[in-house]
Amino acid sequence: MTVPAPRPQVAALPAYVPGARGAGGPQPIKLSSNESPYGPLPSVVAAIAAGAEAPHRYPDMAASALHARLALACGAEPHAVVAGAGSVAVLAHILQAYAGAGDEVVFAWRSFEAYPILTAIAGAEAVKVPLDADARHDLEAMAEAITDRTKVVLVCSPNNPTGPAVHAEEFVAFMARVPSHVLVVLDEAYGEYSRDPRAVRGSELLAEHPNLIVLRTFSKAYGLAGLRVGYAVGSAELLAPVRAVVTPFSITEVAQSAAIASLDAVDELLERVEVTAGERERVLARVRELGWAAPDSDGNFVWLPAGARTADVATALGALPTPILVRPFAGEGIRITVGTPEENDALLSALSRIGASGQE
Ligand code: PMP
Repeated sequence: MTVPAPRPQVAALPAYVPGARGAGGPQPIKLSSNESPYGPLPSVVAAIAAGAEAPHRYPDMAASALHARLALACGAEPHAVVAGAGSVAVLAHILQAYAGAGDEVVFAWRSFEAYPILTAIAGAEAVKVPLDADARHDLEAMAEAITDRTKVVLVCSPNNPTGPAVHAEEFVAFMARVPSHVLVVLDEAYGEYSRDPRAVRGSELLAEHPNLIVLRTFSKAYGLAGLRVGYAVGSAELLAPVRAVVTPFSITEVAQSAAIASLDAVDELLERVEVTAGERERVLARVRELGWAAPDSDGNFVWLPAGARTADVATALGALPTPILVRPFAGEGIRITVGTPEENDALLSALSRIGASGQE
């Protein structure tokens, strides 16, 4: 008996490997998913609790209050912002709206692992441009990779999983080479953690570049990964087709209220981000002292280019009495999220015992 066959692109999709969560056993230190180690602020908890009283009602489908609040925060028109159930969903909508069969989507590799998956789901072809020797985007090579078939270019700054930010100067030079009919998505999921004065700030470039969309999220700096809210900022004209393909009612009322409450508490939340950015520099300096050639990072994570030792090091960390969960990329390296100062102390002392050889 023949059964219905999926689209060939779907059958061939690479799997998204989520960060390890730990399965039973001792409570682990979870540094595997680039989450904030801090829970929501009391004002955000109160907004979540209030929203918990009406789950029998559909959320506001247009998320009007959230869009209005986001527009205020970004200094944009409400129609110049589109929110979705996480920035990964917003990116999926962007690709559905702009790329399809026969089209190419260019991005750096390695970068956020959802890029090839979402590109394939949209029916388009991924064009992966290798990072340079410093684990940074090679924007010249990316500009050269643009062909008549290119519809979208994804630029991730700071880059997940390696860490460096794209510099403003190189991004502006890159935009000058991108044809105006090609959409550029600047994914700034970790933008709040960026301290590199040379780093690109997408919001400052939107006015000059009508083919640019900036992607942001509440999942990282705002600590709302579990509630799923992200958004895109760009011209109303570019975003109208994105809004048209958003899954109806996909941002819950609880998520909308929590995101608004978080924007209202932005200063308090950004104090925590400051701590994480400081901790990142401490972790980075120490892992370098321990012999790892870790690239600069502007995100809430660091990259250990462990190569062939990747699995051994990740396994050794996961086997500690208090397991430390990290995100290994087999044969390439390990992404380690910056946790609380105590969690980072535990990580650094474990890494100093493991040594750069990967053997404890
Ligand atoms: N972009 C990048 C670069 C990411 O690393 C992530 C999450 N890992 C996302 C987007 C998606 O985050 P979310 O859907 O939680 O907003």
